[in-house]
Amino acid sequence: MKKGSFINSRNSPHKSSIKREIFQSSTLLALIVMTIFGFLLSALLYHSETSKARALINRTNHGVALFIDGYFTEIINTIAVLGENKEIRGAMVLGDDARQRILDGYRSITKANNNITYIYSGYENGLMLINDWTPPAGFNPASRPWYRAAMAAKSGTSIGLPYREIKTKEWLVSTSKALKQPGGGYGGAVTVDCSIDQVIHFIAQHDDYKTEISFVIDRFGKIIIHPDQSVLGKSIPEIKDIHQQESGCDLTYHNGNVEYFAHFDRITSTDWTVVTAVDKKEILRPIIVEVLSLVGLTGVIAVVLGLAQSILLSRRLSRPMVELGKKIKAAIAGDEQVGDEYIYPNNEIGIMAREIGQLAAKELTAKTHELEASEEIYKTILMASPDDITIADLSGNIIMVSEAANRIFGYDPDEVPGMSVMDFIAPEDHERARANIVKMIHENYPGPNEYRAVRKDRSCFDIEVNNSLIRDRQGNPVQMVLIVRDITNRKKAEQQIQTLVRQLETERDLAQRNSLTDSLTGLSNRGFFDTFLQAEFSRHTRSGTQLSLIMIDVDHFKNYNDHYGHLAGDNCLRQIASTLKAMVERGTDIVARYGGEEFVVILPDTDCQGAAALAGRIAESVLELALPHATSDTSEFVTVSLGVTSATDHVLTDGSQLVALADQAMYQAKNNGRNRYVVLTASKQGTSITARP
Ligand code: GH3
Ligand code: MG
Ligand code: MG
Repeated sequence: MKKGSFINSRNSPHKSSIKREIFQSSTLLALIVMTIFGFLLSALLYHSETSKARALINRTNHGVALFIDGYFTEIINTIAVLGENKEIRGAMVLGDDARQRILDGYRSITKANNNITYIYSGYENGLMLINDWTPPAGFNPASRPWYRAAMAAKSGTSIGLPYREIKTKEWLVSTSKALKQPGGGYGGAVTVDCSIDQVIHFIAQHDDYKTEISFVIDRFGKIIIHPDQSVLGKSIPEIKDIHQQESGCDLTYHNGNVEYFAHFDRITSTDWTVVTAVDKKEILRPIIVEVLSLVGLTGVIAVVLGLAQSILLSRRLSRPMVELGKKIKAAIAGDEQVGDEYIYPNNEIGIMAREIGQLAAKELTAKTHELEASEEIYKTILMASPDDITIADLSGNIIMVSEAANRIFGYDPDEVPGMSVMDFIAPEDHERARANIVKMIHENYPGPNEYRAVRKDRSCFDIEVNNSLIRDRQGNPVQMVLIVRDITNRKKAEQQIQTLVRQLETERDLAQRNSLTDSLTGLSNRGFFDTFLQAEFSRHTRSGTQLSLIMIDVDHFKNYNDHYGHLAGDNCLRQIASTLKAMVERGTDIVARYGGEEFVVILPDTDCQGAAALAGRIAESVLELALPHATSDTSEFVTVSLGVTSATDHVLTDGSQLVALADQAMYQAKNNGRNRYVVLTASKQGTSITARP
């Protein structure tokens, strides 16, 4: 028997994998660690990015403040020098030459300094010293804002709000200083209009952030320099009072819906405040991108770490168990060498797996020996069976046969496995055999079935097959066992018995016929006549049908025997019998030998006239046989006398009465001279005799 051929192992559908579990838990752990790590890293990143942004804003702000401070310091210094100039201060009392010198001085300073657009001075008496412009009549410098601002600042320098020069479209700022008169008090003001386009251009530059913006606000919180001129003169509520705060601070403010990170610094020369701001979103965007990338990277690292850990742990922990499982499976399948090349790790699991493996192998060897021993017993029983025992799968493919297969089919048991059971059954029986196999599988039908079988040498013989099923633990059929018996001898014996039975039946039929037939004449005998008459008389009584009878006696037959001998007498009787048989043609009529040289004819459904006519024809026919009868007083040939009768009117109650009447009529015929018939019928009116020659 093939090892394990009857074992049907099924794997559990929901198999858990240590490797997978390690992977899942490792990944989860790595994910948690990486999440915490990522969170801290994100916080750090936020801190560092915002600090970096603050530093950049700070730097820009400081640069702008320095630039503007430097720019206006030069202007303030220029105006301070102009304000100290005696000729300019006392221009009201000077002549035209001096005034021209002042104007020339203004022109040369304007030329020397690109930033200065105009220099002019106005006086309380209406004098206006200015190049390239003639004030209109009634022009009063004292009413101009720059003049008033200078007066208000007294010894200080006044810086006005930027304005746009109509001709050049330049943005200009007027810096004015009041002019002290020799007699004390202030009687005029000198002003330098300088272009702040350069300043605007400078603050509009942004190297680090796209949304970076720098602008200048005055002491009252009004925006005085801004790249966007539309906001000039306006103020931002949240930073309106920034002037009150100490210079050089970071702050966050909102303008509309936008939140800004900002830094502000004071310009010492002008007492303005420079604010540099960046949209918070722009600062946070790279942080968000970096954090998201970090999250993605964290996930990937977690999976990779999980994978690495699961590989590592499975090598160290689950691999020994897997190898152990493989080894046990292989050992069950009979291959004890499998798994020997694997070296178990020298940890607790490795040692445990190795020990379990050794234990299992030991147990398995013992069990295998036990199994082999019991298998040997079954094999011996199987092989000793005089019948062939075939094991096949449910498709009919043979798995093994017992040794009897060799004797029965002529095949070596080793060459049969792989063949189909149909290879052993004659083609004409294939369909029936298949139907029986289906019946066995579905209805547990055990047989027996008989088939014509085919030997290896293609000769045919008879077999009887009993079936049984091998089932798995769930009760599902997996294989079939066919017990095949050669029934050639039994079939032969059966045929012999059948021949014998047929012979016996023939003999029985013969005997039966003999018991009803007269052996000399072949006609029905007396026994049959009695039974038949009884039956016909009953029918006549029941249904009132006609029934007639003719009694026939050979005339002077004693003499015939005496003269011609007994054998000739027998022969004569046979010839008369043949004549009678030939004459009574109807299937329902019966001719019987009543006894000695007397015959009787039963004629169902025949009336008296019909019977009489037949009697006459019989008498003639016997005579026509022309059997010589030398010792007869009646004729030179053998003759007969006949008595005819019929049952009418239900007078008779028994068939024997009909016979007696016919006998009586027949004797009447004898008395009347023989070679004739007499009709004798009984009716309610009495007996009537009709004699015929
Ligand atoms: P009758 O005309 O009055 O009938 O004269 P009979 O000589 O025929 O008288 P009976 O009927 O009494 O004679 C019967 C004879 O028939 C007696 C016997 O020798 C002869 N017989 C009866 N059975 C057989 C038979 O089986 N074979 C032979 N050869 N003769 C038989
Ligand atoms: Mg007689
Ligand atoms: Mg006679």
